[in-house]
Amino acid sequence: MAVYVYRCAEHGLLDVAAPIGTAPDTSPCPHCDSAAPRVFTPPGLSLGSASHRALLDRTESTADTPAVVSRPPSRGRPPTAPHNPALARLPRP
Ligand SMILES: [Zn+2]
Repeated sequence: MAVYVYRCAEHGLLDVAAPIGTAPDTSPCPHCDSAAPRVFTPPGLSLGSASHRALLDRTESTADTPAVVSRPPSRGRPPTAPHNPALARLPRP
């Protein structure tokens, strides 16, 4: 399905969903039932889900304004690997 845009002279733009390639030249306005001619618009491309778009926005924003480090990392304990019970059964040296 694609969304096609029609313009009623009295009621403005109308969105009509129809299978791709089957859009008629005019569509009846749901308010006044007059023939509204089709308006050619850029295709409404989708970039996926909202989380995918947010990821793309964050990735794009780091190109312009990357995160700046203001100080070196603190010297605490080095990070340790999470405990894995399978490793506890291995022989010790
Ligand atoms: Zn109308």
